Amino acid sequence: MTDTDMKIDPQRAAALVSQIKTVRERIAAVARGRDVRLVAVSKLKPANDILALVQQAEPPQLHFGENYAQELSQKAELLPRNIQWHFIGGLQSGHCKSLAKIPNLFCVSSIDTEKKAQLLDKYRGEYLSSLSTLSPSSSSSPSPSPVPGKINVHIQVNTSGEPTKSGCPPGPSVVSLCRTVSSLPNLHLLGLMTIGAVARSVATTPDTENEDFERLRQQRDLVASELGLEPQHLELSMGMSEDFEGAIVAGSSEVRVGSTIFGARGPKSEAKIKV
Ligand SMILES: *Cc1c(COP(=O)(O)O)cnc(C)c1O
Repeated sequence: MTDTDMKIDPQRAAALVSQIKTVRERIAAVARGRDVRLVAVSKLKPANDILALVQQAEPPQLHFGENYAQELSQKAELLPRNIQWHFIGGLQSGHCKSLAKIPNLFCVSSIDTEKKAQLLDKYRGEYLSSLSTLSPSSSSSPSPSPVPGKINVHIQVNTSGEPTKSGCPPGPSVVSLCRTVSSLPNLHLLGLMTIGAVARSVATTPDTENEDFERLRQQRDLVASELGLEPQHLELSMGMSEDFEGAIVAGSSEVRVGSTIFGARGPKSEAKIKV
């Protein structure tokens, strides 16, 4: 199956296009001219929902976020190569190899240990050198796919301190993990990411402060000063359906929005990639 024989229901496509337009307008209304990346979180949603937004949103939506490594690999295989994929789910060491082989993987946003950073770097390096030993792709290739390169990385920070949340603890651990990622040849440190406490996110409006967002910004400033970087060169990935406007007011560079675009998600056991 290729994207040319994937069926798109026109009514569903129109609803998705209208919902993403509304989210884009809500972002622009609070961003004060700053560029804020919208990652459309498509986990557990079928591939043709994604294709509808690639083909019919104006401008096309190309950044999509997924939580499950296998689901992401399958969708990446099926869908156009100009999509920029984000892995935002809980990362296990065992996922690093398959993720590293996705040519158009734009970012892994859930790096929280040195070991996972090192594995992702190592496997990306192996993947990139396997490409360069293949016969050089002919320059007449019609494919517009970008050449695979480094994987961008956000360090996930556990800003809420909840033991059930993954993420690197704030402070020296975050600094040291950022230093490691900066030194790895096949990864690029893009910034920091947090999910934050649900209770706080529900209570967040554009006018209230959210401790998780404040804490992530403090961690960003700490990392910047320890690594000798300009703070504005490190991204903050924070904000989801419940709280993305408040997150942008608090300085977010990237919001990850799922249900407000795609609707509520059913159970994982009922999710289908091809419908
Ligand atoms: C699912 C998910 C989102 C999107 O959540 P919505 O509430 O559906 O917008 C964002 N970030 C992460 C890490 C997620 O797992």
